[in-house]
Amino acid sequence: MVYSKGGNNIPPSSKLRAIPLGGLGEFGMNMMAYEYGDDMIVVDCGIMFPDPGMLGVDIVIPDITYLRQNKDRLRAIILTHGHEDHIGALPYVLDEVDAPVYGSPFTLALARPKLAEHGLTEAVELREMHPHQPFEVGPFHVEFIRLTHSIIEAGALALTTPLGTIIHTGDFKFDPTPMDQRVSDLHTLADYGRKGVLALFSDSTNIDRPGVTPSERAVRERLTEIMGGAPGRVLISCFSTSMHRLQIVTDLAAQHGRRLCFIGRSMIQNSDIAREMGRLRVPDELLVAPQDLRKLPPRQVSVVLTGSQGEPLSALARIAVDSHRWIHIEPGDEVAISARVIPGNEKSVFRMIDHLYRRGATVHYSDGSQPPIHVSGHGSAEELKLMLNLIRPKYFIPIHGEYRQLYRHMQAAKELAAVSQEILMLQSGDVLEFDTEGARQVGKVSVGRICIDVGTFDEVEEVILKERRLIAADGIVIPILAINEHTGQLQTPPEIVSRGFIPLNEVPELVESARQVILRTVEKSNSEEISDWGVIKEKIRTALRRHFDKETGKRPMILPVVLEV
Ligand SMILES: [Zn+2]
Ligand SMILES: [Zn+2]
Repeated sequence: MVYSKGGNNIPPSSKLRAIPLGGLGEFGMNMMAYEYGDDMIVVDCGIMFPDPGMLGVDIVIPDITYLRQNKDRLRAIILTHGHEDHIGALPYVLDEVDAPVYGSPFTLALARPKLAEHGLTEAVELREMHPHQPFEVGPFHVEFIRLTHSIIEAGALALTTPLGTIIHTGDFKFDPTPMDQRVSDLHTLADYGRKGVLALFSDSTNIDRPGVTPSERAVRERLTEIMGGAPGRVLISCFSTSMHRLQIVTDLAAQHGRRLCFIGRSMIQNSDIAREMGRLRVPDELLVAPQDLRKLPPRQVSVVLTGSQGEPLSALARIAVDSHRWIHIEPGDEVAISARVIPGNEKSVFRMIDHLYRRGATVHYSDGSQPPIHVSGHGSAEELKLMLNLIRPKYFIPIHGEYRQLYRHMQAAKELAAVSQEILMLQSGDVLEFDTEGARQVGKVSVGRICIDVGTFDEVEEVILKERRLIAADGIVIPILAINEHTGQLQTPPEIVSRGFIPLNEVPELVESARQVILRTVEKSNSEEISDWGVIKEKIRTALRRHFDKETGKRPMILPVVLEV
């Protein structure tokens, strides 16, 4: 770790720069570099979920060329909260740059297993930060200010430099009744506003929604109806980091005489972490293991599970096509999807819901009905305006949103007249510079997206970077399947095309064995799995990857194509 300020030969600079490396004008990959003179800190380090069209890609991380080129100046990575779009890229980034990571205890607890999976436990220093306990990083005086969000222990950062203070909000809403009673610290925000803030960087996600976002507590009413009224089992799918939601479900399960089972790797891992930290209260006697579920009458079962986005191999998606080991849907069961559908996932989610109905379940999802089954973690227009009014900055930069959201946030700020100097519209890569004269955009750094394949959602597999250099090394294989949409049978033997892999015409036996792997995979799948292209493609991809790895030692990118005939 380099803590020197670069020696005496470099003249001190009095410029402050903000460089969004991701998250502005796009959904996800939140990452912002702030520099004062020669020192740099990075706020958040997130991923983006790919849309289903990006075959063979599980997550997308920001291109960190700029960080790599400036790694000697990086003093710290500071996390606002533990959502994937803020911490998911940590292991990939820390593989290349070296810096201590600051976060709240819960945020760091979510980051720790990610680093461990990448063998970075020893290499990375995690430092806890707490509200009202400011600390120094190089020339930055940093204070963590508690805000409410759909995840616990979220907050804004006040970054004070000789040029002034920056408030970076992270994701927030002003929830007056959070499940853990820890409300947003409006006083500290107002104090900074009173003292004078140079620039506000604020969450723009829900600027489109008028009014105020309901409290996390609002879903309790709907979940009470379901827990109390369902004649069979109750399955609730939500994000595994939503501790408010998990606490509500836990409390309701106990009240309605249902045992509770957590299913799905991230659900089990995160609920364990939160229980150990005392941030999720679940009595031991309430819990039941998945293999014991069938011993209980359906009326006494509740399950919290992963799969709210219809991810092909997630617990709920498997249950929907009746390929889960422990749970088989029966009439009378009720399924609640207590999450928003991330744009791009609608098709997979609605297909999953169709399967669940077909098996006899009643499905509750976010369809606008009241009381709500899900509430957003992001503040609506009035809350975003309240933030602007509390801070009343000289400069305002809308962040965390696609271009139209940033634009509308800018318009809202103009109407409020809460910004004394200027509102600046930035996009990822733009360099914004402040000095005693003012603020201006001074150029661009290279940004972009890097696609990564981490195997399946529920299994831990060796992490494979699918960047160009790896495609260059191992190539691409495209198996093509013609499936009869009525019978679910293969119409013709699968074809296999490759580029940059072993020339397949020279190894007919490899082509034939790969065909057999595909045929066996299709044979072993039931007709619903086959008709669900996401599932069958994922299964073929996994099976072929193992096969090629074993036979050739190569790991080409595998992109199955299904033709419906
Ligand atoms: Zn968030
Ligand atoms: Zn976010």
